[in-house]
Amino acid sequence: MKITAVSTYILQASLSQSAACSRFWYDTRTAMLVEIQTDQGVVGWGECYGPAQITAAVVDCVAPWLIGEDPLHSDSLWRMIYARLRDHGQKGVVIQGLGGIDLALWDIKGKYFGAPVHQLLGGAERNEITAYATGLYRRKEGDPIRYLPEEAAGYVAEGFSAVKLRVGFGVDEDTAATRAVREAIGPSVALMVDANHAYDSIAAIRLGRMIEQYDVSWFEEPVPPEDIAGYRAVKLALSIPIAGGECEFTRFGFRELFVSRALDIAQPDTCAAGGLSECKKIADMAEAFGIRYNPHVWGTGIAIAASLHLLAVLPPHTPPSLNPIEPILEFDRTEHPIRQAILVEPIEHACGIVRVPDGPGLGIEIDRKALARFVAR
Ligand code: CA
Repeated sequence: MKITAVSTYILQASLSQSAACSRFWYDTRTAMLVEIQTDQGVVGWGECYGPAQITAAVVDCVAPWLIGEDPLHSDSLWRMIYARLRDHGQKGVVIQGLGGIDLALWDIKGKYFGAPVHQLLGGAERNEITAYATGLYRRKEGDPIRYLPEEAAGYVAEGFSAVKLRVGFGVDEDTAATRAVREAIGPSVALMVDANHAYDSIAAIRLGRMIEQYDVSWFEEPVPPEDIAGYRAVKLALSIPIAGGECEFTRFGFRELFVSRALDIAQPDTCAAGGLSECKKIADMAEAFGIRYNPHVWGTGIAIAASLHLLAVLPPHTPPSLNPIEPILEFDRTEHPIRQAILVEPIEHACGIVRVPDGPGLGIEIDRKALARFVAR
């Protein structure tokens, strides 16, 4: 089998209202999809996390290197692309581009062998994944101390057993929001907070000490990704587990994070950190370091499907036992017109549980008409 074409699709959709994390407001959602075709008619889809115009340029530049290559040689092709761009792109958009390509190769591989990707990755430990609701962003209108608890209670009513709150808006405001959300969801629903690296270690430690009393399952991206010493300081100061890694890339980047013991929970993004090939390697390394792995997910149904296949094969957080603690899926509940629309069969949750696709490859079918509606160029 040979690769005959590599195509990129920049998708864009306007939102009905603006939303904000701690760092910026946004009013559109974008996606960058990769389609790889072969001489045997097998087609694979991937997705790149990151700035769509730039990741598309990366994939378009790499595409000629892939024409004529065997798409089943995914590790070998990964290494070839990485080596050719190593001097210029060990992290960031180059690896995000590589990740999208790798996902498409895995989709082809699964379709070629008639097997779901999780089977080719080593076999599913689980076919259903507990999802947590990612939402609780800021709005232009209203009082967050009123609308955040209401939104959180809505997720609990849908069946979610865990929710994640955006923080990073100032320690006092974050503390009030965390308290209000905890009161709204009750004591048995897990609550995580995510500062989107808006703090330095001094502010992060102060916030952590204020919210430890609200039983926070993890404190995500307390400080900027480059500040490994800051991560360590926050981790040492707090009893709350520290999570991060959506801005880290490849086995080489995560090696540094793991060796420095900067994190309790690693969150590589499957569409950013280098694809399924790389994230499986990072996951194996995380297990060896005793670090939990819960992937970051912020994309369309392709990103969700790829993350589900990886989640299916991850080891439990705790050693195998009668009641292991299992990895969980980040399930974005914010507005994203493209997310499910491009799938013939949307990936939805039932009472906070999402089934792992079991069709060949990524187990999804792309609705090309729907996709065409969102193409931005
Ligand atoms: Ca995050």
